[in-house]
Parts: sequence; C-alpha cells; structure tokens
Amino acid sequence: MARYTGPVCRLCRREGMKLYLKGERCYTPKCAIDRRGYAPGQHGQMKRKLSEYGLQLREKQKAKRIYGVLERQFKIYFEEAIRRKGVTGENLLRLLECRLDNVVYRLGFAKSRAQARQIVRHGHIEVNGRKVTIPSYQVREKDVIAVREKSRSLDFFKEMAEAGKGRIVPEWLSVNYDTLTGEVVRMPNREDIDVPIQEHLIVELYSK
Ligand code: SF4
Repeated sequence: MARYTGPVCRLCRREGMKLYLKGERCYTPKCAIDRRGYAPGQHGQMKRKLSEYGLQLREKQKAKRIYGVLERQFKIYFEEAIRRKGVTGENLLRLLECRLDNVVYRLGFAKSRAQARQIVRHGHIEVNGRKVTIPSYQVREKDVIAVREKSRSLDFFKEMAEAGKGRIVPEWLSVNYDTLTGEVVRMPNREDIDVPIQEHLIVELYSK
C-alpha cells in the first residue's frame, strides 16, 4: 500500500500542532512546530478563519497524517466504520487504532508509527506466532504481538526493550519488555484513544 514520502514536519505545520510523526525529534527543540509554528508556504503566516468545510477537512487530514494512511485507504476504513454496529466516528478511530503498525508503536517497539510500519514491513513482527508484514493488519482481542525471536538480539530492539521498562502502555494492551511481547487485552474504547481528533467532523464531511 502506498504511503506519503514527502516532508513530514510540514504536515504538522499544516495542522498547526505536533502530530509526533518523527519519534525522538518531536520532543527536542528541533521540532518544526516549536521553531516555525505557522503553516508552510508563502501565505502560511496569514491568519485565516476556516469555514465549516475547512474545519472538517482539516480534521480528516489530521487523522490520516497521524496514522499514516492515504485517502483511498482512509475512505475504505470509513465505509467499514459505517457497516459496523455502533457510533461511526468511534468505529473509524478503532479501525485506525487497531492497525498492526499502530499497535507496535503503542507497545513501544518503535519510536514512531512510520518506524513501526517499516519494522512490520521488514518482517520483525509476528502475531500469534506467525510473521505478519502487513502494516494495516487489524489486530483482534487476545492477539499476541511480538518481536520475532531472531530480531530480538538486534541493537535496535535491545534499546527499545530497555527504554520501554517503566513505560505505561494503553489499558487495552499489555506488554512484557523482557520478551518484547504484547497482547491485545480488549478492543479499545474511545477513551483509550488519545489522539486529538474530533471524529464527528470527519463523519460530517463524508456525509455531505
Ligand atoms: Fe511534527 Fe515531530 Fe516534526 Fe515536530 S518534529 S513538526 S512533532 S514530526
């Protein structure tokens, strides 16, 4: 599946907030939002009032950018969210949150979702004992997600295991950094998903 390959910090500047797309750099003074907290482009510093449509569009773009999903796949998630029982906006966020790359990031096995995506792609992750290389793979309740045994000895994963100790993971997940293994304890509720997204605006946008 295609992915965005352009400048990443520009996306945060466009949304006017930190989306934490770059891992460690996001927590340093090098962060572009801290240095140039205005929109990119020639007219980026002009103050503009967004229309209702503009607000809805920005919310959708923000969600896509946080989870690293392009338009076509995002639309597929939305259609699936409508099909499922319950509140469409919450269903949409749950689908995004249950992507394997996001879960790998949430478990602390990667520094950013983009890095988690690469880790999955490169075959370092298994689900229920089987290698999975699809970042969009949907995890389910009781799934066990682990760094594959032969990858655990890599310096990167040793560092992640050390850095992860004492880390608090979302309540719907559990993790063991000694074995670099995590489990989906239950499916996430809206309260578990701490992304700055007003999902109802996305639903309104697609309902036009
Ligand atoms: Fe966004 Fe991180 Fe770049 Fe800051 S450093 S602008 S939070 S991606």
